[in-house]
Amino acid sequence: MTATNTHYAFALHGGAGAVAGRNYSAVEEHLQQLAAECATLLAKGAHALDTVEFAVLELERSGMYVAGRGSAPNTAGYVELDASIMHGPSREAGAVAALPGFESPIQVARGVMEKTHHVLLAGAGARAFARGNGFAEVDEPENYYVLPVGVTKEELMDSNAHGTVGAVARDQSGALAAATSTGGTFGKLEGRVGDTPLIGPGTWADDDIAISCTGTGEHIIRAGGAITIACAYKSGTTLDAAINDMLDEVKRLGGDAGVIAVTRDSEIATLYNSDGMKRASVSSRQSLQVATFTETQ
Ligand code: ASP
Repeated sequence: MTATNTHYAFALHGGAGAVAGRNYSAVEEHLQQLAAECATLLAKGAHALDTVEFAVLELERSGMYVAGRGSAPNTAGYVELDASIMHGPSREAGAVAALPGFESPIQVARGVMEKTHHVLLAGAGARAFARGNGFAEVDEPENYYVLPVGVTKEELMDSNAHGTVGAVARDQSGALAAATSTGGTFGKLEGRVGDTPLIGPGTWADDDIAISCTGTGEHIIRAGGAITIACAYKSGTTLDAAINDMLDEVKRLGGDAGVIAVTRDSEIATLYNSDGMKRASVSSRQSLQVATFTETQ
């Protein structure tokens, strides 16, 4: 490790489905605490992969976002979860799609990465893998799942409403990693899979950039999502322009989205074209910032 490498950067999001005018102060407080904790870990030498998994696990557990405990049921009446994680230096990746009934889909996604030679397991196969490897299962869904902060019961049947969580990190060794987890869009059909578990559209990490997307998954998939941003950035487009081009395409197709990204140089971007995106970011050079709408605190 050279002295010039010993910087770190971290960003996380709680979804681009924030509704204008709502008060997200409890969410912002949570994001602030979690980002500060992750910055401390990175300052002490934690690996990017462990840090993004830890951050997403905490976001899933909190029940404050549409992921993990805050997930909403599909139209068949049960929760299906999507998650993915990627390690830049090795390009190893793991994901689960339409996974029913486990507490932490991001942990199962990392299990897929480390214990199988596959990248993505879906549905019944993902459940069998998670059971076989002892991941915590939700025994009483009716007592486990809670409405995320700021979400009304009416919105649960609105197919445009959505939320997701994600984290990206650059550690002091220069490694990048990204992780994303969601309960999907509200009112989704049984078996529906969005961008979140897809390595490429929803989550990406390589030697230069780590990205986590949020927003209407169908549009993100059709706009290319994270990998489109990575390719543009690696070809010389600035980080913000690369992200905004992808966001513009999502908008053109009729959706909205948000993106968090960190680069090898510890540059951070948190951009969106929805009403707002719950987010926080921090680096060894930038003080912690947290916001949902345009202004930062
Ligand atoms: N992208 C997620 C999905 O389509 C939802 C979100 O990010 O809010 O499942």
